[in-house]
Amino acid sequence: MYEFKYVKLDSVDQAVELLSGDDEGILLGGGMTLLPTMKQRLAQPSQLLDLGGVAELSGVKKSGDSVVIGAMTPHAQVSASAEVKQAIPALADLASEIGDPQVRNRGTIGGSLANADPSADYPAAVVGLNASIKTNLRSIEADEFFLDMFETALEGNEIITAVSFPVPTRAAYAKFPNPASRYAVVGVFIAEIEGQYRVAVTGARGSVFRYTEAEEALNENASVESLEGLSIDADEMNEDIHASAEYRAHLVGVMCRRAFSALVG
Ligand SMILES: Cc1cc2nc3c(=O)[nH]c(=O)nc-3n(C[C@H](O)[C@H](O)[C@H](O)COP(=O)(O)OP(=O)(O)OC[C@H]3O[C@@H](n4cnc5c(N)ncnc54)[C@H](O)[C@@H]3O)c2cc1C
Repeated sequence: MYEFKYVKLDSVDQAVELLSGDDEGILLGGGMTLLPTMKQRLAQPSQLLDLGGVAELSGVKKSGDSVVIGAMTPHAQVSASAEVKQAIPALADLASEIGDPQVRNRGTIGGSLANADPSADYPAAVVGLNASIKTNLRSIEADEFFLDMFETALEGNEIITAVSFPVPTRAAYAKFPNPASRYAVVGVFIAEIEGQYRVAVTGARGSVFRYTEAEEALNENASVESLEGLSIDADEMNEDIHASAEYRAHLVGVMCRRAFSALVG
């Protein structure tokens, strides 16, 4: 065992204050990634700053043409939310397919985005829907947020407070899940926003990316056929015990066509 202090926070301001005085303090979201990391001694915080009791960080609300989800909102709440189901059903579906019931009841959208796992599902929705990540300091556009594997634009002590998703005309997500964890071996999120398509791919590379060739093909001719001639370079794909680079490149095409077929119904 090693010692650390546990603090149940009341507010974002308190988190900022405690983090600014301590480089070794770490925020605790749902703990689904952080606690196993601590057990393995890959993280050894001096203080664990639990955001779980900060009411201002939790919940879903419709705000104008956007759906705003608090950082500490668990996946299960997103998947069950009437607002999300009505405005962006693809986002509710995506949340319902994350992990298992335990993970969905504890894991949070803010923790998922801060962690930036290359196989996580939410990054595909955030980039596909052109969402904004709200922090205690600023608003970060989706295209600027994910930098690399487990690396984001967040600065040292920056805290995600909410995510604002513009409501699209229509959207859909298709993933090929890892059969054990349900993380995306490859997942593709497609959204139509003001007549233009955005296509975001997770699981395939070190970080979520926009599949611009697919976007161009759909903007020219919005049909599954227009996606059929596309191929993506396997050289840049992740490779692990679950899937080779070539298989992932193949899955990008398959998931892309499935997502578009689901989008047009
Ligand atoms: C068995 C298992 C299966 C899973 N399957 C999937 C899956 O299918 N798809 C998927 O997408 N994910 C999956 N996950 C990941 C899970 O859904 C969580 O999203 C993820 O573990 C992180 O969220 P958390 O709230 O638990 O964050 P934590 O583990 O508490 O924190 C993760 C990191 O984010 C930081 N952090 C937390 N909240 C904030 C904040 N508000 N601002 C800034 N930094 C913050 C923490 O300091 C820490 O560094 C799985 C996890 C497990 C354990």
